[in-house]
Amino acid sequence: KRLDGKTCIVTGGGNGIGKATCLRLASEGAYVAVTDIDDGDAKSVCEEITAQGGTAESWPLDVADADAVHQVFDAVAKRFGQIDVVVNNAGISGVNTPTHEISEEEWRKVIDINVNGVFFSTKAAIPHLKKAGGGSIVNLSSIYGLVGAPDLPPYHASKGAVRLMSKTDALLYAKEGIRVNSVHPGFIWTPLVEGLAKSSDEGVEAFRKALDDLHPIGHVGAPEDIAAGIAYLASDDAKFVTGSELVIDGGYTAR
Ligand code: NAD
Repeated sequence: KRLDGKTCIVTGGGNGIGKATCLRLASEGAYVAVTDIDDGDAKSVCEEITAQGGTAESWPLDVADADAVHQVFDAVAKRFGQIDVVVNNAGISGVNTPTHEISEEEWRKVIDINVNGVFFSTKAAIPHLKKAGGGSIVNLSSIYGLVGAPDLPPYHASKGAVRLMSKTDALLYAKEGIRVNSVHPGFIWTPLVEGLAKSSDEGVEAFRKALDDLHPIGHVGAPEDIAAGIAYLASDDAKFVTGSELVIDGGYTAR
């Protein structure tokens, strides 16, 4: 299989896109380190992978905690022998209020997880990927890292940052065989988006219908749609792909 013998770490692997990615990477032969701030969710993803004949182990991890990130990456390398693939997926939507109404604390929380988390995890990963002779880092940006919308200000800031952090790291580590790419999902029906729907004024069904209509393809995406793209970037099928933006958005940004 495409990822036989590869060790992959996924952050925020307990739900949504991260969970679908863990399942997909395992189905392609990878050893999967499922990490999440919610240890129970990470554990149940591991159980699902094991039940399907795959290999996975879970670690509780808050990506905003630099020391913890380093410890977990070292533990994963020790457990599986090396690290080949890192999927920086953990992220939050943060507050959905106009910029002038956002507190510094609310702003920093999004940056701490969505931006600093990717930095900590990349920093912890690079020595391991170098040791493995190369590897692939896949960073979750968003359509909100490519185009604007009049909502989620700190989220937009964070995903724009992730897009260019990916390019810088792609250039810095290309000679060492480490590829770095960003993925830009349209709206995907996950607990994150369900949370936005629940806190909206119009109700969940109307919110979902409105989101469906934003995508030329006619509906929001599924976590598996993104997992397929991530598995491609993780694999040697993408051996000439670095510093690129993989847009999986049902046509959202094509207009
Ligand atoms: P989700 O909320 O459904 O799942 C995120 C997972 O990350 C959860 O299991 C949560 O426990 C975990 N998590 C949260 N904070 C964490 C932290 N500090 N450390 C470690 N884990 C943490 O989210 P999702 O919709 O699957 O999104 C995954 C990624 O994809 C995010 O980076 C998100 O910004 C991005 N994305 C999502 C969409 C979408 O429409 N769902 C669109 C574009 C980009």
